[in-house]
Amino acid sequence: IQTDLVQFLQDIIERFEMLQHEHLHFLRNLPERSIMVQIDTDKMTQVVDNIISNAIKYSPEGGTISVSASLHGRKIKVSVADQGVGIPKNNVSKIFDRFFRVDRARSRDLGGTGLGLAITKEIVLAHGGDIWAESEWGQGTTIHFTLPLKKVRGE
Ligand code: ATP
Ligand code: MG
Repeated sequence: IQTDLVQFLQDIIERFEMLQHEHLHFLRNLPERSIMVQIDTDKMTQVVDNIISNAIKYSPEGGTISVSASLHGRKIKVSVADQGVGIPKNNVSKIFDRFFRVDRARSRDLGGTGLGLAITKEIVLAHGGDIWAESEWGQGTTIHFTLPLKKVRGE
């Protein structure tokens, strides 16, 4: 089944906007036209929910969360950028590992298990995509993931 990823992202952002009433703003940087992808919508909802939940959870003073989607050849890239606490450089690639959490004490207070991004990565890879993080300690974090636009037999 094909899903319009742009509308799919809009719906998720709207749901978060309904839940959040504080100093948190969502910025959309989404294509005007629809972009069809073949996804398991329940699983992909889990992916986007996990990434946005982290952006909220690790942005103590609120701030802006930007959700972007853009085409790159036969892939679509989705990016979620926050202005939160950031991740130390040597930890950026580890956040997708099971149970890895940057600051155990702080993370314990915030709740959770440290599995969110490990599951997220598993789902993205199962869809034929990639996921990675960019972050500046104290400045914010951007999580990027890609999805193939179309599955072609024999490729
Ligand atoms: P869970 O998602 O299981 O409730 P969690 O949020 O701690 O718990 P992950 O989502 O897997 O686990 O994230 C792993 C760790 O990566 C987090 O504990 C946090 O230290 C760091 N992290 C993830 N996203 C961000 C972000 N947007 N900004 C800063 N740190 C982040
Ligand atoms: Mg999480």
